[in-house]
Amino acid sequence: MTIRNELKDTTDLANLEYSVEEMRQMGDEVLARALEHIATLASQPACGDLDVDDYCRTLREVAPENGTALEPLLDGLFDEWIPKSFTTAGPGYLAYIPGGGLYPAALADLIQNTTNRFTGIWRGAPALVQLEVNALDWIRDWMTFPESTRGLFTTGGSMATFNAILCARERHLGAEIRPGTIYTSAQAHHSVAKSAKLAGVMPDRVRQIEVDGQYRMRLDALQAAIDIDRRAGLKPFMVVSSAGTTNTGAVDPFDAIADVCADAGLWHHADGAYGGFFYMCPELRPLMQGMHRADSLTLDPHKGLFLPYGTGALLVRDGTVLHEAHAATGEYMPAMPDDCYDPSQHGPDLSRGFPGLRIWLTVKLYGAAKLRAAVAEKRQLAVAAADAIAQVPGVVIDAPPQLSLFAFHIEWAGSTTEEQNAATTELMNRVTARGKVMLTGCTTGGRVIARVCVLSFRTRQANIDACVRHVTEEAAKILAAQQAEARS
Ligand SMILES: *Cc1c(COP(=O)(O)O)cnc(C)c1O
Repeated sequence: MTIRNELKDTTDLANLEYSVEEMRQMGDEVLARALEHIATLASQPACGDLDVDDYCRTLREVAPENGTALEPLLDGLFDEWIPKSFTTAGPGYLAYIPGGGLYPAALADLIQNTTNRFTGIWRGAPALVQLEVNALDWIRDWMTFPESTRGLFTTGGSMATFNAILCARERHLGAEIRPGTIYTSAQAHHSVAKSAKLAGVMPDRVRQIEVDGQYRMRLDALQAAIDIDRRAGLKPFMVVSSAGTTNTGAVDPFDAIADVCADAGLWHHADGAYGGFFYMCPELRPLMQGMHRADSLTLDPHKGLFLPYGTGALLVRDGTVLHEAHAATGEYMPAMPDDCYDPSQHGPDLSRGFPGLRIWLTVKLYGAAKLRAAVAEKRQLAVAAADAIAQVPGVVIDAPPQLSLFAFHIEWAGSTTEEQNAATTELMNRVTARGKVMLTGCTTGGRVIARVCVLSFRTRQANIDACVRHVTEEAAKILAAQQAEARS
């Protein structure tokens, strides 16, 4: 059914309000498409058609002077443009770091966008801000951070890390930021160096510390780098560790890093954008021993808590530092009670939506136990997949799952690294081309490794079975072709 668009031909040009009936019809239309999309996710190719650069150029257009009906726009979105993307919401998305997009968060977005309340300041919406504080406190408790902690919802992990670096800089460097140096592992996410630059710490002040055989930051190398910088008159002020790297899922030795930081008076930030939420499950905490000792922690609810993109979170152990880093006043700003939380006094944004509602509504609807069960299942699936893939002839596991990500390559007698790299790339491409699961790799130390990361709530046993089967079959074909070539 085409929805009549009353707005476009009305003589009251300045009226932008739809009638209730129109809004209901439009909402129904959108919901029908969205639900159809979700219901068919498993049969959509795990990686859409992305070879569409020429096609995209044909989409360029100037802003329309007059409005159109909704339906053709939804046709374009759901039939044409959304399918030309990684199917990040689908169960076969084992590439990069998956997320999924829980439905309650979509409902929360509808509520926040239709009510459009101002949550930048406590006074603007005290009860709503309190719900957001509750959600941050829940996360604080799951991560076993102390009561002194203050948090902030951000748009993602990168912005959480940016704010953490800002806090560390304010606490340890004050106005003299140029001598300050940051330490992170050579496997750390690129957002660390990028966030450092945004926070005024230039690339020549960011040290990438060597890793051990399990891709974890080496303590001796960290200590040595700190000493060298101190002797050179620089001011080491921060270590950024990883709670699961994007390349291989490596978890840095938090306890030891926390000790180094305590001794040397450095700020310890943990990047838990991928792995942080595994800490929710008490039985998995030993895998991340000491993470709770960090001065600050990046989390990405849009990864490990399965929310749709656009939700990151930061915890800062000494909440006053987060407040001091962002405190600002204006003559038009209302005063607020000392014991209340003003989001705009704890983060860069003033006008903002109600990001906490996504988490609040999701946790209220499911309950924490169900979310923990889903998180724990993702690790079990990854462990089982790694065990099975390790048995595939030719496969060598480069990184077993520390959390829910593992990495491997293929090789055969007499093969060079170059040949192995080409074969591993081909293996990922062939598996992905079969449409059931999408894999991506990375290059580390000159070696291409294929990765499997299980973190979508929609990924269940059947998807893992398909992954194992397709890797097994495609690896066998690649090795058979190598053998045939060797014989000829
Ligand atoms: C995804 C990721 C980031 C960046 O987070 P965004 O939400 O994409 O900004 C940082 N670190 C790690 C380990 C990640 O996986």
